[in-house]
Amino acid sequence: MARMSEQRAGLAVPVVWSEDCLRHEPGGEVWLGVRDEGTEVPARALVLRDALAAAGAPIVPARPHGDEILRAVHDGGLLDHLAGVWAAWEKEGFPAQYGRDRVVPYVFPTPGMLGGLPPRTPPAVHGRAGLYCYDTMTLIGPGSWAAIRGAADAALTAAGLVGGGAPLAYALCRPPGHHVTRDAYGGSCYLNNAAVAAQALRAGGAGRVAVLDIDAHHGNGTQMIFYARADVFYGSVHVDPGAGWFPHYAGYAGERGRDAGTGANRNLPLAPGTGDEGWLAAVSALCADAAAHRPDAIVMSLGLDAAESDPESPLRVSADGYRRAAREIAALGPTVVIQEGGYDLAALGSLAVAALTGAAEAPGPTFHGSAP
Ligand SMILES: [Zn+2]
Repeated sequence: MARMSEQRAGLAVPVVWSEDCLRHEPGGEVWLGVRDEGTEVPARALVLRDALAAAGAPIVPARPHGDEILRAVHDGGLLDHLAGVWAAWEKEGFPAQYGRDRVVPYVFPTPGMLGGLPPRTPPAVHGRAGLYCYDTMTLIGPGSWAAIRGAADAALTAAGLVGGGAPLAYALCRPPGHHVTRDAYGGSCYLNNAAVAAQALRAGGAGRVAVLDIDAHHGNGTQMIFYARADVFYGSVHVDPGAGWFPHYAGYAGERGRDAGTGANRNLPLAPGTGDEGWLAAVSALCADAAAHRPDAIVMSLGLDAAESDPESPLRVSADGYRRAAREIAALGPTVVIQEGGYDLAALGSLAVAALTGAAEAPGPTFHGSAP
């Protein structure tokens, strides 16, 4: 009985969930020329949902939303490509006749290839598969678009809750999103759920938003979407890309924004092996920078892959570290938490519970905009 009453008084954070998030089965990833099993699997979402529900968090269904906010942060061509590329792939017979059971690009129109030629959209689907994609690890299958759109709807629903006065809401987004730029996807991400949430908060009346990204990897997509904007601060603590880690080409300390966004971007790359002490000091520095931006609302990109046991990163953060970091971030203001990475299925649930427990311990003041 004691246990039951504890459960009722448990974690008071709405967990926004879309059943569609389970429909994306990437079927592995092509890394360095070989198709591996991959770690961004549907079971991640189930583990997270079940652990948070067991901790007493209410599960809130994601509401369907229109494309307006998505098209404010992404090129319409990227959205149309993601929505239609699987059907075109299937129509060309790639799965049935050639055993190509997922969309994987093989040619990428880099600036060096085009040399200033006008951009083209090749009519052949295998030619245009790389038009909006920048790696070989981010595969598309039959259920992918439904999951991608479900994750974005979860982000929009959580932003709506916070825009409507809730101090804290969590979107269980799968697939994750922080590697997606305005018009290019990769890194197991397809649409940028955190950017969508930040844009929705802006549309809902927040004058300034701060995105704090504690995934183990740099959120290059979120950074570039807001790089020239003063209204959305982006800050990230992550393993140093210069030490050999994805996304390799972005995430360095010298990247501080441009034009109107100069000074509204902050990267704190950390050495492989960094644990709680160094990581939490960086999170505190990031929070001080974000506070100086005077945000009306916060988006926390919660990647759980900085944990010591995670197979995808060399950082060594503990569950208690996540709890303390999330508490400090959520104290900055009303907070939308967006699920990013995190791949150790055995630890994922307890890490998420620790992080959201910390966030709930120090909710910021609510903001009173209009829900998007
Ligand atoms: Zn990550």
